[in-house]
Amino acid sequence: MSKSAGPELAVAGLTRFSSVDYPGYLSAVVFIPGCPWRCSYCHNPEMQRRVSSGIQWPDLLDWLHRRKGLLDAVVFSGGEATLDPALPEALIAVRALGFKVGLHTAGMLPHRLPALLPVLDWVGLDIKSTLDDARLMGRITGLPTAAAARAGAAVKASLALLLESGIAFECRSTIHPQLHDESALLTMARQLRAAGVQHWALQIARPEGCANPLPPVGLDYPSPSLLDALRWQMPELILRRD
Ligand code: SF4
Repeated sequence: MSKSAGPELAVAGLTRFSSVDYPGYLSAVVFIPGCPWRCSYCHNPEMQRRVSSGIQWPDLLDWLHRRKGLLDAVVFSGGEATLDPALPEALIAVRALGFKVGLHTAGMLPHRLPALLPVLDWVGLDIKSTLDDARLMGRITGLPTAAAARAGAAVKASLALLLESGIAFECRSTIHPQLHDESALLTMARQLRAAGVQHWALQIARPEGCANPLPPVGLDYPSPSLLDALRWQMPELILRRD
């Protein structure tokens, strides 16, 4: 394929093969640089800045063209991929190659979603805290309380847009006992269920690769009784420890 005249998406990194980033499909993962939040458990802190991998988007598109039949899907992750204004055209270009298209987002820019949702097949939406607790959102993201309140409202709006869109998505929350106590997790489950969410993945925070690692989490968190209570709220609850 000749070099694409498509958008110059900034590329901070590429995972050529993943079986976990788009559930049920083999995918490549394209990492987009830049994120204004500073989550303590962030596994890609270097991508919070506008780093470049040296990979040019047209070259990456050419590579994807050669992966047709070998991969099912391409996932755009970050950083916060929705920050890049070139993302909608990039999704269209990838879809035209015949791949399913996925997005990982923290839901911070709901106004960008209407241009993205029609060309997405699946979204992984980070739910970092209860939907209305600005102090907890601030502790997790490093944002001052007023900005954290706006961030929480943005996540809520993104969730509403996803639910309205009817496309497949997964709400996922990275959790740690120092951030998410029993009451917070139960409130999150209740709020997500009330919004119409059926499927919630809990991912235990891991210290590896974090800029400010939290202590390792024991197998006793969340407790079996808390997991039972969460399962009572949420029809499909998944717990991921790695
Ligand atoms: S929102 Fe995501 S990319 Fe941004 S700091 Fe938090 S975990 Fe990292």
